[in-house]
Amino acid sequence: RRTEVPASVHGIDPQLVDERAVNVVSTLQQAGFEAYIVGGAVRDLLLGLRPKDFDVATDATPEEVKGLFRRAFIIGRRFRIVHVVYGRGREHEVIEVSTFRAHMDNAAAEQVKGNERTSKRQLEGMKHAVDSSGRVLRDNVWGPQDEDATRRDFTVNAMYYDPQSQIVVDYHGGIQDAKKHTLRMIGDPAARYREDPVRIIRAVRFAAKLSPLGFKLESKTAKPLIEAKALLADVPQSRLFDEMLKLLQTGHALASIAQLKHLGLAKGIYPLLDVVVERADSDFVKGALADTDRRVGEGKPVAPSFLLACVLWADVRDGWAQRLARKEHPYPALQEAIDEVFDARIGDVSGRGKLAADMREIWMMQPRFEKRVGATPFSLVEQPRFRAGFDFLRLRADVQEVELMLADWWQEFSMASDAEREDLVNAAK
Ligand code: ATP
Ligand code: MG
Repeated sequence: RRTEVPASVHGIDPQLVDERAVNVVSTLQQAGFEAYIVGGAVRDLLLGLRPKDFDVATDATPEEVKGLFRRAFIIGRRFRIVHVVYGRGREHEVIEVSTFRAHMDNAAAEQVKGNERTSKRQLEGMKHAVDSSGRVLRDNVWGPQDEDATRRDFTVNAMYYDPQSQIVVDYHGGIQDAKKHTLRMIGDPAARYREDPVRIIRAVRFAAKLSPLGFKLESKTAKPLIEAKALLADVPQSRLFDEMLKLLQTGHALASIAQLKHLGLAKGIYPLLDVVVERADSDFVKGALADTDRRVGEGKPVAPSFLLACVLWADVRDGWAQRLARKEHPYPALQEAIDEVFDARIGDVSGRGKLAADMREIWMMQPRFEKRVGATPFSLVEQPRFRAGFDFLRLRADVQEVELMLADWWQEFSMASDAEREDLVNAAK
């Protein structure tokens, strides 16, 4: 049931809306298409938060969207969406534009394919809806707006905002739920978790993100979570890895871990996440998680390599200590300890070469910080990853693993002039 909610009721502050998102919507509308801001951005606007990114939904096809913008790129094989790009470098902004998609399961999609009355537009969508093995990728069949709403996850994530008329289109009582601070899965929650088990992790993430505003998972949405957890075994490791990072790196890491425990999901979502939860009470890992949350809150960048280096440091340190006790040479011993940890903990999540290399670098720098003589400090401080290695050292100092003096010395050294650096090295002798 479609309802159109005016500004006097939803109270969205137009100042919080990114002008580039407004531009994308009006360009599409002027070309005769329907277009709205959609999803998490509408949810955040309703709650008075400034959205960190904006998604747009439209009835234009990806090709039609691309044709309307100077810098637009069709991306994704499974979900073909368009990235409209504004600005350059650090300031650049991407508005993600997706075509309304149908909500259907595989059986329903097969039927559409076989149905002669299927519209031309739907068939165009179907071209991309079948993968090489002939399996229907149901999510990529285009459809009307109401189905696009129904295939979304939570009622508060399924609203459409037209910045021109300032009307919010709501099919599932999202406005009500936002007012009542309720996170409610659209449809039958157990079935929706079966359809896409990653929604289990999303439930945790939104419960955590919105907990400071008093949001709770509605009981029918929360109840099947524990039983549904086993379904995550069928989800590709790389997708679970990405979802884990979203839990830990979007500014709500500590709240997410609290939610995992609260919901009975502390174990068994993803092996590396189990380790994070187990160690979240240690001062070192808790410090790293709190640091990450603070940085995201301040709009500073965070690197997964840094956080994971913190989480797995206990293993590396122990493996290294064992080898040192056997009188192995320090550097090769550390290398081997790191190799062992990668084998045991990271597995072969493919395409993580850069991440692993960065983690290794952070760890390998640690013994070098102890050498404050000769040319070593001068070359170390020039390394591109020095800052990450130093931040790591600082966390170690915070938990008395190394002397506070050592971290302070490096802080001084990194900020000093060349002459001052000479003095610092001489003083450290
Ligand atoms: P955030 O503020 O963290 O970005 P978001 O709600 O924007 O949260 P996204 O992952 O950016 O979340 O997804 C955008 C929208 O796409 C969601 O609001 C939701 O409507 C829909 N969506 C994303 N993932 C799923 C999913 N697994 N199942 C159903 N709908 C989804
Ligand atoms: Mg988003």
